[in-house]
Amino acid sequence: MFTSDLEKHEFVDFLTESPTKEIFHHENEAEYLHAVGKVTHAVKKFLNNNQQPFSGVSPSKLKPLFDSIEFEKTHDNYDALLKEVEQLYTSHAVAFHHPAYIAHLNCPIVIPAVAAEVMISAINSSIDTWDQSAGGTLIEQKLIEWTCDQIGYSKKADGIFTSGGTQSNLMGLLLARDHYSITALNHNIKVEGLPQEASRFRIFVSEKAHFSIQKNASLLGLGEKSVIKIKTDRGFRMNTVLLEDALKREIAQGNIPIAIVGTAGTTDFGNIDPLKEIAGISKKYNTWFHIDAAYGCGLLLTDRYRSLLNGIECAHSVTVDYHKSFFQPVSSSGFLVQDKNFFNLITHHADYLNPKDHDEDGLPNQVNKSIQTTRRFDALKLWFTLRMMGRKKLGGYFDTIIETAAKIADLLNSDLDFELMNESDISALVFRYRPKNLRLDVCAMNQYIKKAMFNQGKALVAGTKINQQFYLKFTLLNPLTTISDIENIIKIIKKHGNEYVRLNQVSADFRRN
Ligand SMILES: *Cc1c(COP(=O)(O)O)cnc(C)c1O
Repeated sequence: MFTSDLEKHEFVDFLTESPTKEIFHHENEAEYLHAVGKVTHAVKKFLNNNQQPFSGVSPSKLKPLFDSIEFEKTHDNYDALLKEVEQLYTSHAVAFHHPAYIAHLNCPIVIPAVAAEVMISAINSSIDTWDQSAGGTLIEQKLIEWTCDQIGYSKKADGIFTSGGTQSNLMGLLLARDHYSITALNHNIKVEGLPQEASRFRIFVSEKAHFSIQKNASLLGLGEKSVIKIKTDRGFRMNTVLLEDALKREIAQGNIPIAIVGTAGTTDFGNIDPLKEIAGISKKYNTWFHIDAAYGCGLLLTDRYRSLLNGIECAHSVTVDYHKSFFQPVSSSGFLVQDKNFFNLITHHADYLNPKDHDEDGLPNQVNKSIQTTRRFDALKLWFTLRMMGRKKLGGYFDTIIETAAKIADLLNSDLDFELMNESDISALVFRYRPKNLRLDVCAMNQYIKKAMFNQGKALVAGTKINQQFYLKFTLLNPLTTISDIENIIKIIKKHGNEYVRLNQVSADFRRN
């Protein structure tokens, strides 16, 4: 019935082809339904191609296909377009939803959020001002309030959706910098630019924190040198004794601590810095306290493990990445502050967009709190998700992930051919394959394994370094990944490892002859 409707529309289109049929407009409803139907079908094909997470294609194989594309020649139907996109993209796209994808912090996504995307892009609200979004602004604000409640913030708190953890961390450091300057130096950076003292501003962060802290410090004109990296303890959590030593040392050298950044879920290990202790130290030294919970924010969803985040409510600002741990499509992130007044540090009133009298009239303009202007209505995805599934169900997924990761840790620990480096608070395991009596370079072997796995695409894992040594990494974010999936992946790892041994033994023998 639906198909024949579409065919009928196509036929009508053919007869009455209008030069503006591509414009999203009620007269083009049939074109809209036709196009979206076709694309949904192509996505279904991607979903059903579920043999392995990646085709293993290389850039040198794929790139030549692009050489023949000429933008002057357009397609006259979606089937032709989608066939091309399949060759260039979907048949090779990495499938984050595949249970054997356990490489980076990419979660599988929930269907209510995917459905919301259809509406987000079609209606295309921009959430910078009330006059471009209306209810969209209130949906975003309600979700921000909800997130603040989960953190344990008071009614004074506020926040904003952002493009990602990197941008949220930038906002945290931006507010820390400007807050210090205005309160301690009576210097308004927004207006005056950096004060002379800025070259002595210091930000304290664990050596395992995300690289965006350094990048953002550079962007903020403080330079990478402003970031003081604190060594972690044996559990890869910030060592607070060393933090205090570093604060004292920097102050003694005439430098100015402006912020401490705690990580709730490090990218490599999924470990959580001692948030409560750091909160105490930040209070004692009167610094801003930012928590990067890009990964760990998923713990807000679970009653069983929520206590791991205790202390998060003490932070001046928090980064959450819904697209990492809330099963949301990219992009969807949040930046939350303990006190909404902190946002005054960055508000700019533009006459054409958000004039001051809007504030007086009570018109909510989210742009007052954002470093973006035009901004996607990403919040709708989380709205669909929470309204269809609720916090508890999402939290159940996160519980499963944490518990599967713990079982995998046991598995790796009980296999003498593996060396597991961490106990994860969440779901990231760093390890290497190291069979007994191995006389070859263990780093080179694990690098070989990672590369071979990527080239074959049957299972994808990540890699990282500890003390210049290479390790493999599992990042579990898929509640569908089972122990039996992992047992298969372990077999694949061993197969490639043994392959490496054979290849290198042969060449060693060859050299000897
Ligand atoms: C991924 C990550 C970020 C960066 O977030 P994006 O959304 O990729 O910008 C920041 N901090 C941590 C701990 C992360 O894992």
